[in-house]
Amino acid sequence: MAATDLVDRFGRVVRDLRISVTDRCNFRCTYCMPAEGLQWLPREEVLSFEEITRLARLLVERYGVDSIRLTGGEPTVRANLTTLVASLATLRTDDGPIDLAMTTNGATLGLIAGDLRDAGLRRVNISLDTLRRDRFEEMTRRDSLTRVLDGIAAAQAAGFDPVKINTVVQRDVNDDEIVELAEFGRDNGLEVRFIEWMPLDASGGWAGDAVVGQDEIVARIAAVHPLEQVAARGAAPADRWRYLDGRGTVGVIPSVTKPFCGDCDRIRLTADGQLRTCLFATDEFDLRAAMRRGETDDQLGERIERAVGTKWAGHRINQVDFVRPSRSMSQIGG
Ligand code: SAM
Ligand code: SF4
Repeated sequence: MAATDLVDRFGRVVRDLRISVTDRCNFRCTYCMPAEGLQWLPREEVLSFEEITRLARLLVERYGVDSIRLTGGEPTVRANLTTLVASLATLRTDDGPIDLAMTTNGATLGLIAGDLRDAGLRRVNISLDTLRRDRFEEMTRRDSLTRVLDGIAAAQAAGFDPVKINTVVQRDVNDDEIVELAEFGRDNGLEVRFIEWMPLDASGGWAGDAVVGQDEIVARIAAVHPLEQVAARGAAPADRWRYLDGRGTVGVIPSVTKPFCGDCDRIRLTADGQLRTCLFATDEFDLRAAMRRGETDDQLGERIERAVGTKWAGHRINQVDFVRPSRSMSQIGG
């Protein structure tokens, strides 16, 4: 069947699906989760691989979604993840295979990067907020810096290219490492993408003055390594800059200081099968219940179309009427 675009009220077309495969995690990053973890979803509420694949197939084959990113929680703690990757990797739009990617904390990639690549995963983003072992332990509440660095090397050795690094920057926590982290990327053929801290931490500790904005991040790097902006970001969240000496690129995701909602082409599926049209959405659409009631693909499609019809123009961070979503980043799927 020919693909029908999913278009929202503002003319944006959905092309990218973020799938959270679990709400659980083996880290406890302070900007994301409390030390004791969260109330995990009961297993029966989490979508099975068959349910995830059914929804993904519908979105790809009927609605022209051409990019899927697996996330969590930590996606690699879901048992048999390679089985899911292998089945999603078979999905094709009219124009060819989908772009299948994953965001991970990297701690287990040393063991499974090759298997994921063989199963059909195309790209990987690995989170790394510091290169200092003591700070890493403070920020993630795990002494796992070496494992993550090994995971990054394993991803490159397995042939993932590019490997991107996600770095959440917080003032007076790790902002003194911006240049060092950028240099780690330059030296190792990695694109580092600095992310402005968003009010999605479960502990509610976010504060506007802890956000280090895009302009400051870029200025600090450019003062040491001159940069020129790469044109046209399109629907991607990162603005990108090229090092003038030819040593690669660096990105910044300016969700707070320069929101990019006007170009957003994303929807999200939580681990328990709720469709969300925005990270900050306050409404969810229960596709799990609909599937388990026996709804047909046509009925599910109607639900998805209705959900996309409610997508708002953009989030309201820093506005007086901003409302935090009831679920935090790891429960939604970043
Ligand atoms: N556990 C995986 C990881 O850390 O890469 C995947 C899920 S995590 C929620 C996805 C991304 O969101 C990570 O790069 C993480 O650093 C980022 N993140 C988590 N909480 C955030 C927040 N409050 N603001 C901005 N980024 C955040
Ligand atoms: Fe886990 Fe990722 Fe959240 Fe860190 S950012 S606690 S690794 S889900």
